[in-house]
Amino acid sequence: MLPSLGMGTWHMGERREARAAEAAALRLGLDLGMDLVDTAEMYGEGGAEEVVAEALRGRPSRPFVVSKFYPHHAARRELLAACEASLGRLRLERIDLYLYHWRGRVPLAETVATLEELAARGRIGRWGVSNFAVADMEALFAVPGGERCAANQVLYHVGSRGIEFDLLPWCAGRGVEIMAYCPLGQGALLRHRALQALGKRLGATPAQVALAWLLARPGVCAIPKASSLAHVRENSASRGLTLDADALAALDRAFPPPRRKQPLAMT
Ligand code: NAP
Repeated sequence: MLPSLGMGTWHMGERREARAAEAAALRLGLDLGMDLVDTAEMYGEGGAEEVVAEALRGRPSRPFVVSKFYPHHAARRELLAACEASLGRLRLERIDLYLYHWRGRVPLAETVATLEELAARGRIGRWGVSNFAVADMEALFAVPGGERCAANQVLYHVGSRGIEFDLLPWCAGRGVEIMAYCPLGQGALLRHRALQALGKRLGATPAQVALAWLLARPGVCAIPKASSLAHVRENSASRGLTLDADALAALDRAFPPPRRKQPLAMT
């Protein structure tokens, strides 16, 4: 089981002058017990992985680390090299969960066999995918070893619930955990009146309501990104907020669950 609340790192590591503050935000989150960090070779073209390394430097224990590889690195030779490069930037011996960032053109069987090879060599703990719709998951499970996929990281927040119709139950039935990216809708969701009103009633912020809603879902791990210390504290405290039946009903009215299949939402 993944921790239910972790931290994202998209847009970190893009500007050298912001790196120290970004690492400090991650360190605060780790101190507060958000012990999963999500990154990718794409973020800041490796810069975000370096910020994660900086945040972990000198700590007695390390969190669960997730990274992702580009689709153009999904063939065997490129994937082995990409993984070593990520490990080098992260200054780690092992990536706990290594995700295929989005599906590309390399045959899935080759990518899965290479991920299994990396797991057998101890360079990664487990592997998973990202932005895979149900049809992609079916194709994945049809190749040898595909059923060993541990997680599917997809866009999911209270204002974007399309996966509840098909992908969420599909994954739940097969032990594939959902990692909810953009859990705050990249900030825009927080201006919604329903979240603001509910926050006011519960003595919480809209971000805390949005995160508490995700945290109440079994098998879902939310990875909000925050580079401000105040945001990190606020997000961490969302674990102390329980949404009662009235609050959940109000959210269902404002953000109705899907009634038909929808294309997978992506950033
Ligand atoms: P997000 O977490 O939904 O939103 C991040 C934005 O919300 C930032 O501008 C942040 O500001 C702000 N924020 C954070 N906490 C807040 C709070 N308590 N109150 C108000 N604003 C707050 O969006 P995201 O970064 O796109 O998604 C989260 C993570 O998911 C990413 O960082 C990345 O690790 C992963 N992701 C994966 C994919 C994929 O294809 N697999 C795609 C997108 C994202 P500050 O930074 O200024 O604090």
